[in-house]
Amino acid sequence: MVNCSEGDCLALRPRFQPPPLTKDSAEWKCLDSQVPPEHVARRIVAAIERLDLTPLLASYSGRGSLAVPPKQMLAVVLIEKHRKRQSPGDWYIDLKENVVLRWAGLGIRPSRSVCYEFRDRLGKHLEQWNKDVLCQAKAVGMTDGTDGAIDGSSIAACASRQRLLNQEQLNSRIEKLTARCDQSQPTEQNEKPPAWMAATADGRKAQLNRFEQAVEALQPRLDANARRMPSLRLPVKRVVISPSDPEAALGPDKFKVFRPLYNALFVSDMNSPLILSYEVFDHGQDTALLEPMLRRTRDFVGPQFHRVVGDSGFVTGTNLAHCDAAGVELIGPWKENDYTKRKQKKQEKFVKDKFLWLETDHAYQCPAGQRLERMGSERRQRAGDQEETLERFGCRAATCAACPLRSQCTDSRGGRQLRRSEHEPLIEAHRAKMNTPEAKATQKRRGQTAERGFADLKEHRNLRRITGRGIACARTDVGLCVLTRNLLTLHDHLTTESPSAAAAP
Ligand code: SF4
Repeated sequence: MVNCSEGDCLALRPRFQPPPLTKDSAEWKCLDSQVPPEHVARRIVAAIERLDLTPLLASYSGRGSLAVPPKQMLAVVLIEKHRKRQSPGDWYIDLKENVVLRWAGLGIRPSRSVCYEFRDRLGKHLEQWNKDVLCQAKAVGMTDGTDGAIDGSSIAACASRQRLLNQEQLNSRIEKLTARCDQSQPTEQNEKPPAWMAATADGRKAQLNRFEQAVEALQPRLDANARRMPSLRLPVKRVVISPSDPEAALGPDKFKVFRPLYNALFVSDMNSPLILSYEVFDHGQDTALLEPMLRRTRDFVGPQFHRVVGDSGFVTGTNLAHCDAAGVELIGPWKENDYTKRKQKKQEKFVKDKFLWLETDHAYQCPAGQRLERMGSERRQRAGDQEETLERFGCRAATCAACPLRSQCTDSRGGRQLRRSEHEPLIEAHRAKMNTPEAKATQKRRGQTAERGFADLKEHRNLRRITGRGIACARTDVGLCVLTRNLLTLHDHLTTESPSAAAAP
């Protein structure tokens, strides 16, 4: 008789339900006859064979009742993502009604809660699967992973934009919820709860938990607000948070609606329809996110990634310095929408380009031949935690007052002043590069890659609202959409464009 430990017994025990249908069953053959040969579901089912599902299968402990077969479940999820059906609640309904899903899932019928649990379980495997798909794409020569176009877009969080609370309101509600949850106050239990309060005891406990998280998440926002310049500082009661999803940022979306949202960034391959990397952030400024996206893209495709193309929001002195240090070339227009430049153009004042930088003297020379000497320096706060040092240069007030070109140069009584960034040599080199035909052609191609990828994810995959609460869920939603797109792109490349390579794993 062989004795086995509890761990061995669990390993030997079947962990998954057998699918209700087999490919030899009459019912499955009937379903198969109803799915057209060119249907995208057939490509997705075939493409899943390229993924290593071992970590997903190993994530089931083997305890409790047998789990729904993960491979068939994954096929259903990817088909649903492709069909604009983002929510696990939709998957549950469609699995009962949709012939294609019953065919792909071999007749599985998971409950609604299993669909939600499976979505959350997939989260930690998506990054590795996406890396594996890119690795296979590189191996078959589909991409070399060197050039990418970066862009970002906001995605609405799963939270109401009408119910934002400040610190005082949160504390008041926590007090009321605590009193309600306290079993030692039976008389209050009989009172009708206010409209904002959950109706059941379990719901109130979950609500209290979320409100306490919201209080914690609000504190850094209050601290950041206190560090702002007095002219930009908000009154404390206007610093609010979403109690439904405290991790979500608050800001205007593409339609200028102020709401809880997440910021999703993608780096799309310039030479194929693949997405090289993605990430979801809980703050909204793209400018500060270039550096983390460069690190992440290299993590996904390797150190050969060396050129990124972005819009003017990504091109700042600080980002040029980051790219220079990382050995990545940044292509993008230099502040085309700069307010100061437009204002100067409108008033027909000399722009900074009209002033000659004298490297040896560390001073500027103005169009009238006068010098603007260094007056001092200042530290400027930039997007995120970035900072930049600017040197101030100025011409003497008396010189400017007597200058015949004054009306074209400045209205200031103190004389014309200029600021020079600590990254000015990089900025000047970048501006010169952006005037070359090669850089202009590369910039033009960005619109055909990054913008098209976003249009596909938002319009065709309906990636407009996160299906659950928290940034982990946001990353899962985005990661699944990217996996579906990249997996199909790789599969199509291997099966249609390069028949000889189709034999590759
Ligand atoms: S106004 Fe002053 S800075 Fe401007 S061109 Fe005349 S001397 Fe030079």
